[in-house]
Order: sequence, then structure tokens, then C-alpha cells
Amino acid sequence: MATEHAALQPALNEAMREVLDTAAFIQGPAVGQFAAELGEYLGGAHIIPCANGTDALTLALMSLELPAGAEIIIPAFTYVATLEAAALLGLKPVLVDSLPDTFNIDPTAVEAAITPRTGAIVAVHLFGQCADLEALRTISTRHGVALIEDNAQAIGATFQFQNDETAFAGAVGEIGTTSFFPSKNLGGLGDGGALLTRDAARAALLHQLANHGQSRKYHHQHIGLNSRLDTLQAALLRVKLRQLPANTAARQAVAARYDAALAAVPGIIIPTRDQRSSHVFHQYTIQVEEAGRRDELQLFLQKCGVPTMIYYPLPVHAQAAYAYLGYRAGQFPVAERLCEAVLSLPIHPLLTVEQQEYVIGRVGAFFGN
Ligand SMILES: *Cc1c(COP(=O)(O)O)cnc(C)c1O
Repeated sequence: MATEHAALQPALNEAMREVLDTAAFIQGPAVGQFAAELGEYLGGAHIIPCANGTDALTLALMSLELPAGAEIIIPAFTYVATLEAAALLGLKPVLVDSLPDTFNIDPTAVEAAITPRTGAIVAVHLFGQCADLEALRTISTRHGVALIEDNAQAIGATFQFQNDETAFAGAVGEIGTTSFFPSKNLGGLGDGGALLTRDAARAALLHQLANHGQSRKYHHQHIGLNSRLDTLQAALLRVKLRQLPANTAARQAVAARYDAALAAVPGIIIPTRDQRSSHVFHQYTIQVEEAGRRDELQLFLQKCGVPTMIYYPLPVHAQAAYAYLGYRAGQFPVAERLCEAVLSLPIHPLLTVEQQEYVIGRVGAFFGN
């Protein structure tokens, strides 16, 4: 990340200087400009900037105006923020299992979990690839339940429907949410987030909710949040957004090289591509077939100087904070197994071929290749 910023430094400095000059630190012009540019990049959707990706999920659920205790269907294999938003609002997270190949929410399990109390389905496009939006959109329509897309990891990914329509991740359901946390594909230099919707009325409501529920200054229509994207972050993100298509292509090239080199390594499973979705490779996540050896592989790579990450070591139902939901070990076998088997290898736009070949060589060496 440091090297990436070195190349962008003149543009980032200039963006910061402009904000300092105008001193419009809250709701300055860069916020609206960034929202318009991101909306254009994502096929003309309304973008509502906010303070972070977790707030984006909270605001999305708030805008549905659900009764207390409404059930929110959420994958058991995700980052905890997906669950946190629902829990904080007094809604009831209902967990479902994921698919073992794409890591994404299992639509069959979603449909089985629907009850008259279901308020929303929150799908996560994990690691950069769309969940099965074809099935999820059908289920959402059939049952009249809102679909929210947690798109913190797949900004710019697209999904092709059977009817040949292609849509951006986040633009299919009622609301899409995203995060500009520094390590995300479109990362700021601090916290940031946004919501996406195709519906102008919902966009207006979300804008109000993110700004103390006010329709105009000191007139409060709703109980809202103070959740705004700083002008400074918006100005920096405008610079980063111009880089996003090239960065995505670079990530995809790294992933293609990993695929070619690792497909034949015994003992690991490379990430499955869903042919209907493009993949923006927020993470390149392999599975170690013999799950007991995953930690051993990570330690080996660490000793070789190769940093790897485990997303996620625990499924959300095993987190102490969510014990109150009453789930037991064994209820989400796919999520539980993924937590033991996954390992994310280095992938970023500036990873050189030499660095990557070293990683590939070390992974092969561990499995005796
Ligand atoms: C990063 C992330 C979030 C939260 O975003 P923040 O900006 O850190 O609040 C939510 N969901 C998923 C899947 C994420 O990866």
C-alpha cells in the first residue's frame, strides 16, 4: 500500500491541499463529486457516501423501517460487521450456510430460512466475486423480501443474468453497501463507506438517515446517524477511483498466474470462478484439503517471509458476542470447515511477477512439489 501511494503522492497531496484551502471539511464539494463519479463508474446508480461500511449496512437496514425483531438472513461465513448492523438495530440475525466452492451464501439455505418475519436477505460478495444473484434476486422477488448486497469486497464486479442482462455488484438488490477501508479494492486513507441504490426516493431517505435524519438543516424527519464521508477522504478517493480499473486488472492478472501455477499442486483447492460473475479478487483464497495442515502451511510461509491471512478463523455463530443467538457448533458445516481450510495469499496490484513466483514456489515446496 505504501508503494501504491508513493506513485499517487503528487495527486493525493494536491487533493489534500485543495480541501485545506477551502476548509469545507464536512460535506464539501468533493463528497458530491466523488459520489457522482463512483455512481457513473457503477452504471449510473445513486451513491450515498457515509462514514464506513458498517454504517452503510446499518443505514441500509434502517431505511427498510422493519418491525423490531424482524429476521435478517445473513451468511455464517462473513466478516462480523454484516451481523453487527442487524444486531445493533434490534433485528434478529438468522444465519445460513455458504457454498463450499464460491464461499458465498447458499441460496437454497436462504430460501429454506424465509419465514413471515423475514425482513431482509443480506448477501455478501465475498473475496471479490458475486454471490448467486440470479437465485437471490428470484427468491427476493418471490417472497417480497428486500435483498441487500454487502459489497465491501467486490466493488466493480459484474454479474450476468440468464436474460443476458449484466449488472454491477451492489446494484441488483434494493440497496448495495460498500467500504473504503484502506485495504479494500477502493481504499481511502482512513475510514469511509457508501450505499448504492437505483431508487431515487430511497437514495433521498438514505441521505437523510446518514445526516441525523434531517430533511433540511435543523429539521429532523427521522432518527438518523452522524455518518458522513469526510471531504478529505472523498477528495483522496476521487484520486484512488481513477486508479481502480487498472488496479482491478492487475489483481486479476495476479489471480490468473496463481490459478495457472497452483491448479496442479496437490493438497490445495484454488478459488472457484462462477462463470456468471467477474471476479475482482479482493482476496485470492485457497483451501487446504487437509484442513489440519492449514496452520502449518501458514507458519511455513511466514518463516519464508510470505505474509498470508485467514479470512475468517471463526464463523460468526462461534463469536462470543453472538452466543445469545443460540447456534451450536455443527450447524453450519460448510462455514465451519472453510474457517479451518482457507488461506489468503498475497494479492495486490503492485505484486511483481518475481515476488509472486517466490510465493508459488514456497507453496509448492510445502506440498513436496
Ligand atoms: C470491510 C467489511 C465491512 C465493514 O466495512 P468497514 O468500512 O470496515 O466498516 C463489512 N462487510 C464486509 C464483508 C467487509 O469486508
